[in-house]
Amino acid sequence: MMNAKELTSEIEQHLKDLVARTQAAKASKEVLEYLRFMAKFHRYSFHNTLSIWLHCPHATQVAGYATWKRLGRFVKKGERGIPILAPCVVRKAVTNDENAEPEEQVVCFKVVYVFDVSQTDGKPLPEAPITTAGDGKGLLPVVESVACEMGIEISYKPLQGSHHGTSFGGRIEIDERLDEAGKVSVMLHELAHELLHRGPDRNETSREQKETEAEAVSFIVCSHFGIETAAPNYLALWDATEEAITQALQRVQKTAAQIIDKMEKIIASAAPARESMAS
Ligand SMILES: [Zn+2]
Repeated sequence: MMNAKELTSEIEQHLKDLVARTQAAKASKEVLEYLRFMAKFHRYSFHNTLSIWLHCPHATQVAGYATWKRLGRFVKKGERGIPILAPCVVRKAVTNDENAEPEEQVVCFKVVYVFDVSQTDGKPLPEAPITTAGDGKGLLPVVESVACEMGIEISYKPLQGSHHGTSFGGRIEIDERLDEAGKVSVMLHELAHELLHRGPDRNETSREQKETEAEAVSFIVCSHFGIETAAPNYLALWDATEEAITQALQRVQKTAAQIIDKMEKIIASAAPARESMAS
């Protein structure tokens, strides 16, 4: 087992590595292709995001009827649309200034309906290149024990599309479709959310920063135990900057060290039992 100082410098090294690899991932073919696909979906306003969440809390990808049709999917029979407000825009006539941009004015809002991907069927959507595959080096029960020690309940469920896990505060849901290494990396990501983003200051951090911190913790712990993850792609899709990653350094370092420490203790306590069984 390494001492605290060695672990700290190892973690710093992993973070530097993550910064460099995230930059590279931003220019990679698989990330760019996925971003091009995502651009087909509309970005909704705060109020509409709220409405989507209220009507369909598990929503991951929403679009109108026509957009789904264009993507080769159809809304399933009997599904109820999620109401959102769409602005009706008119362009004001340009006055005497020739260089003036035509001004857009919102004259009214009308209710339109959108549907979550779970309400549709048809051609499968391309998945985000964020899944870690392969064997988890026997670490899954170890991470499960860490969660258990922290009083966090874990459940496995088949999730939808590129959504692989959720932290609910005291409870974590993991996508049962994943390989063991995927389960390990997602569970570490959700554990980091539980440790870092469930306190009273939870609203002071942006979603981007939270995702960056959680994925950085997962990347560091996995790297420590020799599991290669898709964290650079994940951070590239969140458009995480070098600043955002290094800004998180202290919080990430502390949480990653805490989890590594717990995991190593669990592994060490299991080892003598294994040895005595072998002899
Ligand atoms: Zn997350």
